[in-house]
Amino acid sequence: MAERRTVVIGLDGMPFGLIRDLAAEDAMPNTQQLIAEGVFRRMTSSIPEISSVAWSSVITGTNPGVHGIFGFTDLAPGTYRLVFPNFNSLKAPPFWEWKRSGRSVILNVPSTFPARPLNGVMVAGFVALDLERATYPPSLVPHLREMDYRVDVDAQTAHKSLPLFLQDLEHTLQARIKAYRYLWEREEWDTFVLVFTGTDRLAHFLWDAYEDPTHTYHTAFVNHLRRIDEVIGEIARRITSNDVLMMLSDHGFGKLEYDVYINFFLRQRGFLKLAKDPPRGPQDIADGALAFALDPGRIYFHLKERFPRGPLSRADREALLDELTAAFEELEIEGRKVVQRVYRREEIYTGPQAERGPDLVLLPHDGFNLRGSLKARKLHGKDVFTGKHTHADAFLLVWGEGARESTPDRPSVSDVVHVMEELRERRRG
Ligand SMILES: [Zn+2]
Repeated sequence: MAERRTVVIGLDGMPFGLIRDLAAEDAMPNTQQLIAEGVFRRMTSSIPEISSVAWSSVITGTNPGVHGIFGFTDLAPGTYRLVFPNFNSLKAPPFWEWKRSGRSVILNVPSTFPARPLNGVMVAGFVALDLERATYPPSLVPHLREMDYRVDVDAQTAHKSLPLFLQDLEHTLQARIKAYRYLWEREEWDTFVLVFTGTDRLAHFLWDAYEDPTHTYHTAFVNHLRRIDEVIGEIARRITSNDVLMMLSDHGFGKLEYDVYINFFLRQRGFLKLAKDPPRGPQDIADGALAFALDPGRIYFHLKERFPRGPLSRADREALLDELTAAFEELEIEGRKVVQRVYRREEIYTGPQAERGPDLVLLPHDGFNLRGSLKARKLHGKDVFTGKHTHADAFLLVWGEGARESTPDRPSVSDVVHVMEELRERRRG
């Protein structure tokens, strides 16, 4: 019996309910068949429910306390300098660097830039600053260029024109499909990972179009998923009954009703003071500030041991945890509670990196999108985005012999590689 091969298809940001409904309504017939034959579960995302954090958990099988990615941004230790963590910041190895993993093709997994050597081939996903450093081995770059491959859609285009955004989205998808076919046909592999990330962009800009069947772009939204489903069908026909096929998203999506500016709230309540108004960035957090937020709802305490101008001691921390938890639990906008749950670092992060995490992380109620801008001059507002990430409704679909026994009833993103490993080790009886 040949070794078992594993294929992982990622649909960035696709909620359990959307996949279930589009599959049932026949817009995603291939997915429907996999759901019927496999195991389909609602999955929880990382805390916070940000792609870089969630995908880092997916590929390492660990929580941020181990992999060290807490958000899209972070502060360089002991400073107020904002940094953008990348693949080099990841403190745990992704599964394709585990010795037992064999040969892998890794296409478009977010937060894997810059690419580094592996037993196999990879093209990093967003944020990738250039295709050369996104690709291993470098000899693949000219072929990708020939396909007009691009890592991500151009967000600027989307801000200017939705029709141009949809064109760009389609073009990016078609090039991604070309790249997957090219690699599938030419490479030997034990694991093949293909992530579609246009789905997240589509949901940010056009969630309202998905929810409203009379919306101008409703059909365009559904058609994007239809085209991805065709690729899923093609892949399902290319594997054997001995293989494993997994599909998953890193977080869910829902309607965005209000952007809520957490730093404005902290200023209103006297917890945050700024040395300059408007501030240039975290470097203008004043000496007397007690706490501040980074996107989306990460609260950092201004501790002496952590920040050059921090006034707080360890002993002050306990009291502030209680005080801020109570303040956030009471926060209301137009009569609705904003925060569903206030997590303390100690409850959600374990491992050698945990101390680098925020002191509190806020999980918002449906409809509320938390923002960490220091410049905000109002508590809430709304910009062009109509969709926002959600924590509780990512999905996991596992197809293959042993799927039922190996898949937890309520999986989380950090379970994915462990399910994958367990299934790899099973042989068909
Ligand atoms: Zn997103």
